[in-house]
Amino acid sequence: MQKSLDRRNFLKLTATGAAGGLFAGAGAARAASMNPDAAEKTGGIIYRTLGRTGLKVPVVNLGVMRVDNPRIVTLALDGGMKLLDTANSYQNGRNETMLGELLRDRPRDSFYLATKVNPRREILTVDQFIGMFEISLERLKMDYVDILYLHSASSREGTLHENYLEALTRLRDQGKIRFAGVTTHSNESEVIRAAVESNFYDVVCTSYNFRMEQLTDLKKAIAEAAGAGLGVIAMKTMAGAYWDKERQDPINTKAALKYALQNENIHTSIPGVTAFQELEDNFKVNTDISLTDDEMRDLRMDTTQGGLFCTGCEECIGQCPHNLAIPDFMRTYMYAYGYKDLALARSTMDSLDLCGDACESCDACRVTCTQGFNVGQKIKDIDRLRHVPSDFLA
Ligand code: SF4
Ligand code: SF4
Repeated sequence: MQKSLDRRNFLKLTATGAAGGLFAGAGAARAASMNPDAAEKTGGIIYRTLGRTGLKVPVVNLGVMRVDNPRIVTLALDGGMKLLDTANSYQNGRNETMLGELLRDRPRDSFYLATKVNPRREILTVDQFIGMFEISLERLKMDYVDILYLHSASSREGTLHENYLEALTRLRDQGKIRFAGVTTHSNESEVIRAAVESNFYDVVCTSYNFRMEQLTDLKKAIAEAAGAGLGVIAMKTMAGAYWDKERQDPINTKAALKYALQNENIHTSIPGVTAFQELEDNFKVNTDISLTDDEMRDLRMDTTQGGLFCTGCEECIGQCPHNLAIPDFMRTYMYAYGYKDLALARSTMDSLDLCGDACESCDACRVTCTQGFNVGQKIKDIDRLRHVPSDFLA
Protein backbone atom coordinates (compact mmCIF):
# COMPACT_ATOMS: atom_id res chain seq x y z
CA MET A 1 0.00 0.00 0.00
CA GLN A 2 1.25 3.49 -0.71
CA LYS A 3 2.68 5.45 2.13
CA SER A 4 -0.02 8.09 1.98
CA LEU A 5 -2.78 5.60 2.68
CA ASP A 6 -1.37 3.09 5.09
CA ARG A 7 -3.80 1.08 7.18
CA ARG A 8 -3.67 3.48 10.12
CA ASN A 9 -4.35 6.50 7.95
CA PHE A 10 -7.06 4.66 6.13
CA LEU A 11 -8.87 3.79 9.36
CA LYS A 12 -8.49 7.38 10.46
CA LEU A 13 -9.94 8.52 7.19
CA THR A 14 -12.97 6.25 7.34
CA ALA A 15 -13.49 7.13 10.99
CA THR A 16 -13.55 10.76 9.95
CA GLY A 17 -16.11 9.78 7.36
CA ALA A 18 -18.24 8.17 10.04
CA ALA A 19 -18.14 11.30 12.13
CA GLY A 20 -17.93 13.63 9.20
CA GLY A 21 -20.90 15.72 10.31
CA LEU A 22 -18.51 17.24 12.83
CA PHE A 23 -15.70 17.92 10.41
CA ALA A 24 -17.19 18.54 7.00
CA GLY A 25 -16.90 22.03 5.57
CA ALA A 26 -19.82 24.39 5.40
CA GLY A 27 -19.68 24.14 1.64
CA ALA A 28 -20.64 20.50 1.75
CA ALA A 29 -23.67 21.24 3.83
CA ARG A 30 -24.53 24.07 1.45
CA ALA A 31 -24.17 21.86 -1.59
CA ALA A 32 -26.10 19.04 0.03
CA SER A 33 -28.93 21.39 0.80
CA MET A 34 -29.16 22.75 -2.76
CA ASN A 35 -31.82 20.20 -3.53
CA PRO A 36 -33.06 18.58 -0.37
CA ASP A 37 -35.02 15.97 -2.29
CA ALA A 38 -31.96 14.81 -4.16
CA ALA A 39 -29.15 15.14 -1.64
CA GLU A 40 -28.55 14.17 1.93
CA LYS A 41 -25.60 13.66 4.20
CA THR A 42 -25.22 10.46 6.15
CA GLY A 43 -22.24 9.60 8.29
CA GLY A 44 -20.28 12.44 6.73
CA ILE A 45 -20.76 11.24 3.16
CA ILE A 46 -22.86 13.28 0.77
CA TYR A 47 -25.46 11.19 -1.04
CA ARG A 48 -27.69 12.00 -3.96
CA THR A 49 -30.50 9.98 -5.44
CA LEU A 50 -29.82 8.55 -8.87
CA GLY A 51 -33.02 9.75 -10.50
CA ARG A 52 -35.90 7.36 -10.77
CA THR A 53 -33.73 4.35 -9.95
CA GLY A 54 -34.10 5.52 -6.37
CA LEU A 55 -30.54 4.32 -5.66
CA LYS A 56 -28.92 6.46 -2.99
CA VAL A 57 -25.31 6.89 -3.96
CA PRO A 58 -22.35 8.85 -2.60
CA VAL A 59 -21.39 11.72 -4.89
CA VAL A 60 -18.10 9.94 -5.64
CA ASN A 61 -17.90 6.25 -6.51
CA LEU A 62 -15.34 4.08 -8.24
CA GLY A 63 -14.56 3.77 -11.91
CA VAL A 64 -12.87 0.36 -11.93
CA MET A 65 -11.72 0.62 -15.55
CA ARG A 66 -7.98 0.87 -14.85
CA VAL A 67 -7.82 -0.74 -11.42
CA ASP A 68 -5.37 -3.62 -11.42
CA ASN A 69 -5.01 -3.92 -7.64
CA PRO A 70 -8.16 -5.43 -6.11
CA ARG A 71 -7.36 -3.79 -2.77
CA ILE A 72 -8.39 -0.48 -4.27
CA VAL A 73 -11.90 -1.86 -4.80
CA THR A 74 -11.99 -3.34 -1.29
CA LEU A 75 -10.88 -0.06 0.28
CA ALA A 76 -13.35 1.92 -1.82
CA LEU A 77 -16.28 -0.17 -0.61
CA ASP A 78 -15.05 -0.21 2.98
CA GLY A 79 -14.72 3.58 2.79
CA GLY A 80 -18.37 4.04 1.83
CA MET A 81 -18.41 4.03 -1.96
CA LYS A 82 -21.34 2.06 -3.33
CA LEU A 83 -21.32 2.03 -7.12
CA LEU A 84 -18.66 0.11 -9.03
CA ASP A 85 -18.39 0.85 -12.71
CA THR A 86 -16.87 -1.62 -15.14
CA ALA A 87 -17.44 -2.77 -18.73
CA ASN A 88 -17.32 -5.88 -20.82
CA SER A 89 -14.30 -4.52 -22.69
CA TYR A 90 -12.14 -3.17 -19.83
CA GLN A 91 -8.77 -4.90 -19.63
CA ASN A 92 -10.06 -7.42 -22.14
CA GLY A 93 -12.54 -8.77 -19.60
CA ARG A 94 -10.04 -9.12 -16.74
CA ASN A 95 -11.65 -6.16 -14.98
CA GLU A 96 -14.98 -7.96 -14.65
CA THR A 97 -13.24 -11.20 -13.69
CA MET A 98 -11.36 -9.42 -10.90
CA LEU A 99 -14.62 -7.96 -9.58
CA GLY A 100 -16.30 -11.36 -9.73
CA GLU A 101 -13.58 -12.83 -7.54
CA LEU A 102 -13.51 -10.16 -4.91
CA LEU A 103 -17.24 -9.43 -4.68
CA ARG A 104 -18.33 -13.03 -4.24
CA ASP A 105 -18.02 -12.83 -0.44
CA ARG A 106 -19.78 -9.50 -0.05
CA PRO A 107 -23.52 -9.25 0.53
CA ARG A 108 -25.04 -8.48 -2.87
CA ASP A 109 -27.07 -5.60 -1.49
CA SER A 110 -23.97 -3.88 -0.05
CA PHE A 111 -22.90 -2.45 -3.43
CA TYR A 112 -24.27 -1.47 -6.83
CA LEU A 113 -22.64 -2.74 -9.96
CA ALA A 114 -22.75 -1.26 -13.45
CA THR A 115 -21.31 -2.80 -16.57
CA LYS A 116 -21.51 -2.02 -20.27
CA VAL A 117 -21.87 -3.61 -23.66
CA ASN A 118 -19.92 -1.79 -26.32
CA PRO A 119 -21.21 -2.29 -29.87
CA ARG A 120 -18.03 -0.62 -31.19
CA ARG A 121 -18.50 0.38 -34.79
CA GLU A 122 -21.14 -2.18 -35.72
CA ILE A 123 -24.81 -2.58 -34.95
CA LEU A 124 -25.20 -5.67 -32.80
CA THR A 125 -28.14 -8.00 -33.18
CA VAL A 126 -30.32 -8.54 -30.13
CA ASP A 127 -28.73 -11.94 -29.58
CA GLN A 128 -25.19 -10.58 -29.93
CA PHE A 129 -25.88 -7.85 -27.40
CA ILE A 130 -27.41 -10.31 -24.93
CA GLY A 131 -24.59 -12.79 -25.57
CA MET A 132 -21.96 -10.18 -24.68
CA PHE A 133 -23.79 -9.36 -21.48
CA GLU A 134 -24.10 -13.05 -20.54
CA ILE A 135 -20.29 -13.25 -20.74
CA SER A 136 -20.11 -10.30 -18.34
CA LEU A 137 -22.47 -12.00 -15.89
CA GLU A 138 -20.37 -15.13 -16.02
CA ARG A 139 -17.17 -13.22 -15.33
CA LEU A 140 -18.84 -11.29 -12.54
CA LYS A 141 -20.29 -14.50 -11.07
CA MET A 142 -23.60 -12.73 -10.56
CA ASP A 143 -27.25 -13.25 -11.37
CA TYR A 144 -27.86 -9.61 -12.18
CA VAL A 145 -26.25 -6.20 -12.39
CA ASP A 146 -27.82 -2.99 -11.18
CA ILE A 147 -27.17 -0.97 -14.33
CA LEU A 148 -26.37 -2.20 -17.81
CA TYR A 149 -25.28 0.46 -20.26
CA LEU A 150 -25.28 0.65 -23.98
CA HIS A 151 -21.69 1.94 -24.11
CA SER A 152 -20.25 4.88 -25.96
CA ALA A 153 -23.29 6.01 -27.92
CA SER A 154 -22.66 9.04 -30.09
CA SER A 155 -25.95 9.59 -31.92
CA ARG A 156 -29.70 9.62 -31.41
CA GLU A 157 -30.03 6.82 -33.92
CA GLY A 158 -27.59 4.55 -32.08
CA THR A 159 -29.10 5.33 -28.69
CA LEU A 160 -32.60 4.48 -29.86
CA HIS A 161 -31.69 1.51 -32.04
CA GLU A 162 -34.43 -1.07 -31.73
CA ASN A 163 -31.98 -3.94 -31.22
CA TYR A 164 -30.56 -2.36 -28.09
CA LEU A 165 -33.91 -1.36 -26.64
CA GLU A 166 -35.19 -4.87 -27.29
CA ALA A 167 -32.12 -6.55 -25.75
CA LEU A 168 -32.23 -4.33 -22.68
CA THR A 169 -35.98 -4.88 -22.31
CA ARG A 170 -35.56 -8.65 -22.41
CA LEU A 171 -32.76 -8.57 -19.87
CA ARG A 172 -34.78 -6.34 -17.59
CA ASP A 173 -37.82 -8.64 -17.88
CA GLN A 174 -35.61 -11.61 -17.01
CA GLY A 175 -34.34 -9.81 -13.90
CA LYS A 176 -30.75 -9.81 -15.16
CA ILE A 177 -30.51 -6.03 -15.03
CA ARG A 178 -32.33 -3.65 -12.74
CA PHE A 179 -31.86 -0.50 -14.80
CA ALA A 180 -30.91 0.38 -18.36
CA GLY A 181 -28.46 3.14 -19.15
CA VAL A 182 -26.43 4.70 -21.93
CA THR A 183 -22.93 6.16 -21.81
CA THR A 184 -21.56 8.82 -24.11
CA HIS A 185 -18.18 10.44 -24.77
CA SER A 186 -19.11 12.38 -27.87
CA ASN A 187 -22.12 14.24 -29.18
CA GLU A 188 -23.26 13.96 -25.59
CA SER A 189 -26.20 16.38 -25.75
CA GLU A 190 -27.84 14.50 -28.61
CA VAL A 191 -27.41 11.14 -26.86
CA ILE A 192 -28.74 12.47 -23.54
CA ARG A 193 -31.78 13.98 -25.23
CA ALA A 194 -32.41 10.70 -27.06
CA ALA A 195 -32.31 8.89 -23.71
CA VAL A 196 -34.93 11.32 -22.39
CA GLU A 197 -37.02 10.93 -25.53
CA SER A 198 -36.90 7.13 -25.26
CA ASN A 199 -38.84 7.15 -22.01
CA PHE A 200 -36.96 3.90 -21.54
CA TYR A 201 -33.47 4.55 -20.21
CA ASP A 202 -33.11 5.10 -16.48
CA VAL A 203 -29.53 6.41 -16.38
CA VAL A 204 -27.16 8.42 -18.54
CA CYS A 205 -23.42 8.46 -17.93
CA THR A 206 -21.68 11.33 -19.69
CA SER A 207 -18.33 13.05 -19.96
CA TYR A 208 -18.52 16.18 -17.85
CA ASN A 209 -15.75 18.36 -16.45
CA PHE A 210 -14.51 21.91 -15.95
CA ARG A 211 -12.99 22.00 -19.43
CA MET A 212 -16.48 21.55 -20.88
CA GLU A 213 -17.96 24.49 -19.02
CA GLN A 214 -18.42 26.41 -22.24
CA LEU A 215 -20.67 23.68 -23.57
CA THR A 216 -23.86 25.22 -22.27
CA ASP A 217 -25.97 22.91 -24.38
CA LEU A 218 -24.54 19.89 -22.56
CA LYS A 219 -25.49 21.43 -19.24
CA LYS A 220 -28.98 22.05 -20.58
CA ALA A 221 -29.31 18.46 -21.78
CA ILE A 222 -28.13 17.19 -18.39
CA ALA A 223 -30.72 19.37 -16.66
CA GLU A 224 -33.42 18.04 -19.00
CA ALA A 225 -32.41 14.47 -18.20
CA ALA A 226 -32.42 15.06 -14.45
CA GLY A 227 -35.73 16.88 -14.78
CA ALA A 228 -37.20 13.92 -16.64
CA GLY A 229 -36.19 11.61 -13.80
CA LEU A 230 -33.09 10.01 -15.28
CA GLY A 231 -30.11 9.36 -13.08
CA VAL A 232 -27.07 11.33 -14.30
CA ILE A 233 -23.52 10.13 -13.74
CA ALA A 234 -20.42 12.13 -14.65
CA MET A 235 -17.27 10.53 -16.04
CA LYS A 236 -14.04 12.07 -17.34
CA THR A 237 -14.33 14.51 -14.45
CA MET A 238 -10.52 14.89 -14.21
CA ALA A 239 -10.17 16.09 -17.81
CA GLY A 240 -7.14 13.93 -18.52
CA ALA A 241 -5.43 14.46 -15.14
CA TYR A 242 -2.50 16.45 -16.62
CA TRP A 243 -2.08 19.72 -18.43
CA ASP A 244 0.90 18.43 -20.37
CA LYS A 245 1.85 15.25 -22.17
CA GLU A 246 5.07 15.02 -20.17
CA ARG A 247 2.95 14.70 -16.97
CA GLN A 248 4.94 17.41 -15.21
CA ASP A 249 1.96 19.66 -14.65
CA PRO A 250 -0.85 17.77 -12.92
CA ILE A 251 -4.42 18.99 -12.82
CA ASN A 252 -5.79 19.51 -9.32
CA THR A 253 -8.04 16.49 -9.65
CA LYS A 254 -9.79 17.03 -6.32
CA ALA A 255 -10.79 20.48 -7.48
CA ALA A 256 -11.88 19.08 -10.83
CA LEU A 257 -14.09 16.50 -9.17
CA LYS A 258 -15.61 19.06 -6.83
CA TYR A 259 -16.24 21.34 -9.77
CA ALA A 260 -18.32 18.71 -11.58
CA LEU A 261 -20.33 18.05 -8.44
CA GLN A 262 -21.34 21.70 -8.09
CA ASN A 263 -23.90 20.86 -10.75
CA GLU A 264 -26.75 19.44 -8.72
CA ASN A 265 -28.11 17.65 -11.79
CA ILE A 266 -25.05 15.40 -11.65
CA HIS A 267 -26.07 12.76 -9.14
CA THR A 268 -22.76 11.01 -8.83
CA SER A 269 -19.35 10.50 -10.44
CA ILE A 270 -17.16 7.50 -11.19
CA PRO A 271 -13.57 8.75 -11.41
CA GLY A 272 -11.09 6.10 -12.43
CA VAL A 273 -8.49 5.29 -9.79
CA THR A 274 -5.15 3.56 -10.11
CA ALA A 275 -3.37 4.65 -6.92
CA PHE A 276 -4.29 4.74 -3.25
CA GLN A 277 -3.59 8.45 -3.05
CA GLU A 278 -6.26 9.11 -5.68
CA LEU A 279 -8.73 7.06 -3.69
CA GLU A 280 -7.86 8.99 -0.57
CA ASP A 281 -8.53 12.28 -2.39
CA ASN A 282 -11.86 10.98 -3.62
CA PHE A 283 -12.91 9.98 -0.10
CA LYS A 284 -12.30 13.53 0.99
CA VAL A 285 -14.46 14.90 -1.81
CA ASN A 286 -17.21 12.50 -0.76
CA THR A 287 -17.55 14.43 2.50
CA ASP A 288 -16.86 17.95 1.29
CA ILE A 289 -17.48 19.25 -2.21
CA SER A 290 -16.94 22.91 -1.42
CA LEU A 291 -14.49 24.56 -3.81
CA THR A 292 -11.98 26.95 -2.32
CA ASP A 293 -10.70 30.01 -4.15
CA ASP A 294 -7.30 28.35 -4.49
CA GLU A 295 -8.87 25.28 -6.05
CA MET A 296 -10.79 27.44 -8.50
CA ARG A 297 -7.56 29.17 -9.43
CA ASP A 298 -5.92 25.79 -9.98
CA LEU A 299 -8.56 24.96 -12.56
CA ARG A 300 -7.34 27.85 -14.74
CA MET A 301 -10.82 28.68 -15.89
CA ASP A 302 -9.46 31.72 -17.70
CA THR A 303 -7.46 29.42 -19.98
CA THR A 304 -9.42 28.32 -23.00
CA GLN A 305 -6.58 26.35 -24.51
CA GLY A 306 -4.28 23.55 -23.49
CA GLY A 307 -4.53 20.38 -21.48
CA LEU A 308 -5.09 16.95 -22.92
CA PHE A 309 -8.86 16.83 -22.89
CA CYS A 310 -10.81 17.18 -26.14
CA THR A 311 -14.02 18.94 -25.14
CA GLY A 312 -15.95 17.38 -28.01
CA CYS A 313 -16.96 20.82 -29.25
CA GLU A 314 -16.91 19.41 -32.80
CA GLU A 315 -15.53 22.64 -34.31
CA CYS A 316 -12.96 20.51 -36.13
CA ILE A 317 -15.52 18.29 -37.81
CA GLY A 318 -15.32 18.64 -41.58
CA GLN A 319 -11.96 20.44 -41.53
CA CYS A 320 -9.83 17.39 -42.31
CA PRO A 321 -9.90 16.53 -46.03
CA HIS A 322 -9.47 12.88 -45.07
CA ASN A 323 -12.37 13.03 -42.68
CA LEU A 324 -10.43 11.57 -39.76
CA ALA A 325 -12.35 11.07 -36.52
CA ILE A 326 -10.34 13.74 -34.72
CA PRO A 327 -12.15 13.77 -31.33
CA ASP A 328 -11.72 9.98 -31.10
CA PHE A 329 -8.00 10.31 -31.81
CA MET A 330 -7.73 13.02 -29.17
CA ARG A 331 -9.42 10.77 -26.60
CA THR A 332 -6.97 7.96 -27.24
CA TYR A 333 -4.14 10.49 -27.01
CA MET A 334 -5.41 11.48 -23.56
CA TYR A 335 -5.54 7.84 -22.49
CA ALA A 336 -1.95 7.32 -23.59
CA TYR A 337 -0.34 10.54 -22.35
CA GLY A 338 -2.67 11.67 -19.54
CA TYR A 339 -3.64 8.32 -18.05
CA LYS A 340 -0.43 6.58 -19.18
CA ASP A 341 -2.61 3.65 -20.13
CA LEU A 342 -1.31 2.45 -23.47
CA ALA A 343 -3.43 -0.71 -23.46
CA LEU A 344 -6.60 1.34 -23.05
CA ALA A 345 -5.49 3.75 -25.78
CA ARG A 346 -4.73 0.90 -28.14
CA SER A 347 -7.94 -1.03 -27.45
CA THR A 348 -9.94 2.15 -27.98
CA MET A 349 -8.15 2.74 -31.28
CA ASP A 350 -8.87 -0.82 -32.34
CA SER A 351 -12.52 -0.66 -31.32
CA LEU A 352 -12.99 2.54 -33.30
CA ASP A 353 -10.91 1.38 -36.29
CA LEU A 354 -8.77 4.48 -36.05
CA CYS A 355 -6.03 4.82 -38.63
CA GLY A 356 -3.86 7.93 -38.91
CA ASP A 357 -1.95 7.02 -42.07
CA ALA A 358 -3.43 10.03 -43.87
CA CYS A 359 -1.55 12.45 -41.60
CA GLU A 360 1.79 11.10 -42.81
CA SER A 361 1.08 12.38 -46.30
CA CYS A 362 -0.18 15.81 -45.24
CA ASP A 363 2.29 18.68 -45.62
CA ALA A 364 0.51 20.76 -43.02
CA CYS A 365 -2.50 20.04 -40.87
CA ARG A 366 -5.52 22.07 -41.89
CA VAL A 367 -7.42 21.53 -38.69
CA THR A 368 -7.86 24.35 -36.19
CA CYS A 369 -8.78 23.17 -32.72
CA THR A 370 -10.52 25.37 -30.15
CA GLN A 371 -8.15 24.00 -27.49
CA GLY A 372 -5.13 24.87 -29.59
CA PHE A 373 -4.21 21.23 -30.15
CA ASN A 374 -1.71 20.53 -32.89
CA VAL A 375 -4.08 17.89 -34.22
CA GLY A 376 -1.91 16.46 -36.99
CA GLN A 377 1.07 16.05 -34.67
CA LYS A 378 -1.01 14.43 -31.95
CA ILE A 379 -2.48 11.97 -34.40
CA LYS A 380 1.00 11.11 -35.68
CA ASP A 381 2.17 10.58 -32.09
CA ILE A 382 -0.68 8.34 -31.06
CA ASP A 383 -0.91 6.47 -34.35
CA ARG A 384 2.48 4.84 -33.62
CA LEU A 385 0.67 2.76 -31.03
CA ARG A 386 -1.27 1.01 -33.77
CA HIS A 387 1.94 -0.68 -34.87
CA VAL A 388 2.85 -2.07 -31.45
CA PRO A 389 1.78 -5.71 -30.95
CA SER A 390 -1.13 -5.77 -28.50
CA ASP A 391 0.49 -8.34 -26.23
CA PHE A 392 3.24 -5.83 -25.42
CA LEU A 393 0.59 -3.54 -23.99
CA ALA A 394 -1.57 -5.95 -22.01
S1 SF4 B 1 -2.60 16.20 -40.76
FE1 SF4 B 1 -4.56 17.21 -40.22
S2 SF4 B 1 -5.58 17.63 -42.18
FE2 SF4 B 1 -3.95 16.11 -42.59
S3 SF4 B 1 -4.98 14.11 -42.42
FE3 SF4 B 1 -4.13 14.58 -40.39
S4 SF4 B 1 -5.78 15.60 -39.28
FE4 SF4 B 1 -6.33 15.64 -41.47
S1 SF4 C 1 -11.90 21.29 -32.07
FE1 SF4 C 1 -10.43 20.39 -30.63
S2 SF4 C 1 -11.55 20.26 -28.69
FE2 SF4 C 1 -13.10 20.57 -30.30
S3 SF4 C 1 -13.72 18.47 -30.86
FE3 SF4 C 1 -12.07 19.04 -32.26
S4 SF4 C 1 -10.20 18.25 -31.29
FE4 SF4 C 1 -11.80 18.29 -29.72
